[in-house]
Amino acid sequence: MIENTMLLPHKYLDPVEPIVVGKCEGCSDNVHENDEHLEIDDVLLHDDTTCIANHIREVAVRR
Ligand SMILES: [Zn+2]
Repeated sequence: MIENTMLLPHKYLDPVEPIVVGKCEGCSDNVHENDEHLEIDDVLLHDDTTCIANHIREVAVRR
């Protein structure tokens, strides 16, 4: 009997590449559309405390 290929989940045949929306200013990795991320003016950050902290240390003045 021949397997009916129409029953295979579509994602195995046509994997969807996540869309890159920009670069994280915290870790310098790509931010994908499906990643939790934050936008502050033109700055993109992963919604991750490490990325946020890295960016704040870049832009803030330490006193
Ligand atoms: Zn990041």
